[in-house]
Amino acid sequence: MEIQDLYQELIVDHGRSPRNKGRVVEPTHAAEGTNPLCGDEVYLTLRIVDGVIEDAQFEGCGCAVSTASASLLTEQVKGKTVEEAQSLFNDLRDCIVSKKSPENDLGPLEALVPIREYPMRVKCVTLAWHTLISALKGNHAPTH
Ligand code: ZN
Repeated sequence: MEIQDLYQELIVDHGRSPRNKGRVVEPTHAAEGTNPLCGDEVYLTLRIVDGVIEDAQFEGCGCAVSTASASLLTEQVKGKTVEEAQSLFNDLRDCIVSKKSPENDLGPLEALVPIREYPMRVKCVTLAWHTLISALKGNHAPTH
């Protein structure tokens, strides 16, 4: 099997059965994002303790690509520091939006890279990540 096919399987898999769907217990950070181009919506909650992302979950509805991207995001940022998560976003953005080679190994996020050839879908990939960044910058989660 070609490595490209493997990556696509990962997207299909995460799109169909997303990981970390829901809301974290006692969230410290949250943000929502929308991608009007495709109609994707994501609501991301995080629990960050001492600069480490202990838990990350998402809700929302969107296409398979945005769901897979959010699912992969939550898996990848768990256990990372805020700085590590931000640099992961920078690497992914450089690779997908600017089409540069990433400075670091993207790991399973490599699965998202072929989508850079489809400009209409790029925002489906980056939506969850922009939402992550605004959650990290932002405010404490609303209590409701
Ligand atoms: Zn989409």
